[in-house]
Amino acid sequence: MMTSMNPESISNPVTLEPTVSGTIPSDALPMTSRSQVKRLAERGHYERALVYEILDEGLICHIGFVIEGQPFVIPTAYGRSGDRLYIHGSPASRMLRALKTQLEVCVTVTLLDGLVLARSAFHHSMNYRSVVIFGQAEVVSSPDEKLTALQSFTEHIIADRWAEVRQPTPQEISGTLVLALPLHEASAKVRTGSPKDDEADYALPVWAGEIPLRLMPLSPIPDPRLPSTIAISPSVQQYTQRAQ
Ligand SMILES: Cc1cc2nc3c(=O)[nH]c(=O)nc-3n(C[C@H](O)[C@H](O)[C@H](O)COP(=O)(O)OP(=O)(O)OC[C@H]3O[C@@H](n4cnc5c(N)ncnc54)[C@H](O)[C@@H]3O)c2cc1C
Repeated sequence: MMTSMNPESISNPVTLEPTVSGTIPSDALPMTSRSQVKRLAERGHYERALVYEILDEGLICHIGFVIEGQPFVIPTAYGRSGDRLYIHGSPASRMLRALKTQLEVCVTVTLLDGLVLARSAFHHSMNYRSVVIFGQAEVVSSPDEKLTALQSFTEHIIADRWAEVRQPTPQEISGTLVLALPLHEASAKVRTGSPKDDEADYALPVWAGEIPLRLMPLSPIPDPRLPSTIAISPSVQQYTQRAQ
């Protein structure tokens, strides 16, 4: 049972690291009626830097949209450059074709940081950092911005890869539909720390605490068609070493 019902206030010390682009924006996103965190509002954050940090660490987003009254939530990869979240795919994609008609969308990214084990079943929870974004996506038609978007996808998957690989051809660029979602209306929500049990339950002889979780790469597996003379790229080395 998740403890979204826990009414206790939780402090959220949040450390800001430089984003992938190396800059930490200092402004806050506006809180709107739909982006305002209402349940456990003290876990809500609007600092653009924190929102970007979560977006840059996440790998996939879930895009929610409604077509003729039917809601869909579709997982997809994304990239970020400045104040724009980019998604891309085939021009035949139902999702992208729908989004380019400027449907309202809701995009979420979730980082799972730990399992929170309380003394009671009721207060079990999870530590997380998540972002919810609202807006309308727009088609990116400028070849320069498309290239920026494609670079942001590649660099989002693994930093410093773009410079190691063949660059997209004009045909590949024109054959890819890229949409940009301006990052104007978004919130972050963060839970950290230990379980919050009912005071009387602290006397129970039950182990309680947190199991931290993180996503870790295992040893890279070379493509079967890779000549054995080709060494592992610096980007892959850096990624796997950083995660140790
Ligand atoms: C980690 C990850 C990264 C991805 N990255 C991209 C990307 O960068 N670009 C891209 O275009 N697509 C990506 N996809 C695929 C994406 O989820 C969609 O399948 C794709 O965009 C086609 O969308 P559509 O609406 O045209 O699919 P359609 O085939 O028209 O969808 C029809 C139905 O198929 C089912 N369906 C569609 N996708 C999925 C799914 N992923 N899982 C289960 N059921 C599904 C749903 O019921 C949906 O209503 C990614 C998927 C994952 C899981």
